[in-house]
Amino acid sequence: MLDDTVALAVLAALAGLLIGSYLNVCIYRLPRDFSTAYPRRSFCPGCGQLVAWYDNVPVVSWLLLRGRCRHCRTSISARYALVELLTAATFVSAALQHGATGEALRLALFSAVMIVLLFTDLETFILPDEFTLGGAAVGWALATLWPRPAGLLALFLPVDRLPAGEGLLSSVLGGAIPAAMLWSIGAAYERLRGREGLGFGDVKMMLTLGAFVGLEGTLLTVAVAGVLGSLAALPRLILRGRSAMLDEMPLGSFLAFAGLLLAHLGRSGRLY
Ligand SMILES: [Zn+2]
Repeated sequence: MLDDTVALAVLAALAGLLIGSYLNVCIYRLPRDFSTAYPRRSFCPGCGQLVAWYDNVPVVSWLLLRGRCRHCRTSISARYALVELLTAATFVSAALQHGATGEALRLALFSAVMIVLLFTDLETFILPDEFTLGGAAVGWALATLWPRPAGLLALFLPVDRLPAGEGLLSSVLGGAIPAAMLWSIGAAYERLRGREGLGFGDVKMMLTLGAFVGLEGTLLTVAVAGVLGSLAALPRLILRGRSAMLDEMPLGSFLAFAGLLLAHLGRSGRLY
């Protein structure tokens, strides 16, 4: 029994390292509108050299090369190793919390999507549709296979009386309601201040969150992200005064980080 658990955790870690390596490709290429399929192999942004397989082993290669390209010594961001480790850690956590089940798959996929959104928004202020809308589509598909409880929505809608569509409907509405709220706030802000306060990517990301964690989960994520974002902004606010408030904050990164924290460190059981 213990051996099974260890085997499952090792498999999850290996899968996480490999998928994390692909997520790195997505994080670099999607915001730049490069294909994630061609060239199939990674290349160095400094010298354009294709990266040999032995220099592309997750985490290990980055450590052996001490974070530099073998050919031109351009430094390779620590993000590469970090994303691979983080993906592996979330996959192991999903496997240990849920075993080899659909719920583990849902938690692992949710984590992979959040990891990509965290880093693309942090590095480029872009939340690629492939992961916001694509992630939402994956969450909706999983909700039809393994429905989640309707929760708050059951108070307003007869979702529990729609046996076939229950999972899908609560997963779609769970994101659509916060998306509409966020969009309205953004539109009102733009009217008042005459400039854009929220990116449309953040609105789409509500759909992604709702698809996986439902209405309450999404609202909780927004609340925790708000607290984390305020804490992060505080030092700049104190040092630089009101002008710091005008700096763009990567809201998507805070949402993704909050989602990962809640999903892995919150009360276990289902997602959130
Ligand atoms: Zn190079």
